[in-house]
Amino acid sequence: MQLTLWTYEGPPHVGAMRVATAMRGLHYVLHAPQGDTYADLLFTMIERRRERPPVTYSTFQARDLGGDTAELFQRSVREAYERFRPQAMIVGASCTAELIQDDPGGLAQALDLPIPVIPLELPSYQRKENWGAAETFYQLVRHLAKAPAAPRDSGARPCCNLLGPTALGFRHRDDVREVTELLALIGVDVHVVAPLGATPADLARLPGADFNVVLYPEVASLAARWLERTHRQPFVGVVPIGIGASTDFIHRVAELAGVNPAPALERIEWRARWYAQSVDSTYLTGKRVFVFGDATHAIAAARVASREMGFTVVGLGSYSREFARELREAATLYGVEPLITDDYLEVESRITEAHPELVLGTQMERHIAKRLGLPCAVISAPVHVQDFPARYSPQMGIEGANVMFDTWVHPLMMGLEEHLLTMFRDDFEFHAEAAPSHLGSAATALRAVPAADVPAMAPAVKAVPAAPIESPAVATAVPSSPIELGWAPEAEKELHKIPFFVRGKARRNTERYARDRGVATITVETLYDAKAHFSA
Ligand code: SF4
Repeated sequence: MQLTLWTYEGPPHVGAMRVATAMRGLHYVLHAPQGDTYADLLFTMIERRRERPPVTYSTFQARDLGGDTAELFQRSVREAYERFRPQAMIVGASCTAELIQDDPGGLAQALDLPIPVIPLELPSYQRKENWGAAETFYQLVRHLAKAPAAPRDSGARPCCNLLGPTALGFRHRDDVREVTELLALIGVDVHVVAPLGATPADLARLPGADFNVVLYPEVASLAARWLERTHRQPFVGVVPIGIGASTDFIHRVAELAGVNPAPALERIEWRARWYAQSVDSTYLTGKRVFVFGDATHAIAAARVASREMGFTVVGLGSYSREFARELREAATLYGVEPLITDDYLEVESRITEAHPELVLGTQMERHIAKRLGLPCAVISAPVHVQDFPARYSPQMGIEGANVMFDTWVHPLMMGLEEHLLTMFRDDFEFHAEAAPSHLGSAATALRAVPAADVPAMAPAVKAVPAAPIESPAVATAVPSSPIELGWAPEAEKELHKIPFFVRGKARRNTERYARDRGVATITVETLYDAKAHFSA
């Protein structure tokens, strides 16, 4: 048992639903108890799809358990086939149905339908949503893309498949368009996009491309590796998020397509690069950023933050356990300890310890940052409805870099205001506790409320020391300390002269300095000694 209030990923059958809902001409019959249809809302409300997901649930109830649930499942499969006439079907069990062991695959095969029926084995108690999506996509590709492709015309333009975009994917819709345009720039066509928008017949055509592009490794790595082994299709593993990664992506694609990338690279105007280099961005240099998300987006964001924005990465983590190795490798680049966890309380305490000035994360980190009074931008699923925007908002390619620049800088205090705060800290408007004024009154109210007064999201959240950045109480909040540290009132006053966005770091350094020297009460002198020590 694990006490869980928030979960970064749903059960694996939700991953299977994301693949089925992304596709056309495919139907999913899910052996599941009454009530599991809640998952439909993810697609119809969060992603705002116009139609129900192509999923039929057997919806057994308590009274069915005494009877024949296997018959109930078979009836659901038969009726779904009659009603929807799909090109292919996938069948499987949700968590509860897994326990009653009805074998959906065997039961569906016994019906002998005239279409491919692909059984899914998704261990709900060991695996999660992204794994479920990857396994489902892999099984579909393995069953449907068996036949080798017919030889292509020797004069045809190079072409590739785009693998990985699904329903309910963070900005997948716009990433596909952006990457398609990027490929067109270098003279490469898109053969099949899958699973998003593909039919089972399209999956059968996958071997016809020259190579594959893996847009989302969490979903498509498994299938891409199978296609490489079976159909000798190499794949591009560089995910084009950020200017550097997009440039690497273009080089790798050009290499596989046998084209010269130079003309395309010369034509691209990287507006985000110029924005980051312009003098207004100087104040961004060295800002401390904490990054958390799925492995692909977190690793990409850390690279952009460090190399393209000039931030300092003070934390990097992911809930994608399957990509722990890649995450660890990335963390070593920034000299930070990798954080691989799906426990949001652990993420919250690491953010609290790291004292970042900006958090880049999922919707969970947005809540954590709100509680801690920190600026935050969303870079990865899971996300709320507002991260399925109506406007064009890719993360990948040229426009993706622009979108990220704007999104990440927006929550930060602007340069002039930051400067005014340092100079006039007793001003009624630009005072030390003031929030960025471009974010309006809501943000001001947020920073003005002591964190302890913000309605708690979870009882467990209270276990974390409240508002360590702003609250004087934090002086005694480090549990591992053998010394009861205290701040003299005048030292506390002096500390408050330091602008809020670096105050947390100053407090932490001073306390570390005091603890190392056995100083129990921090005075103004201790504060300045610590400053001299750490800036030496
Ligand atoms: S079967 Fe699984 S997904 Fe459905 S309600 Fe139970 S735990 Fe949740």
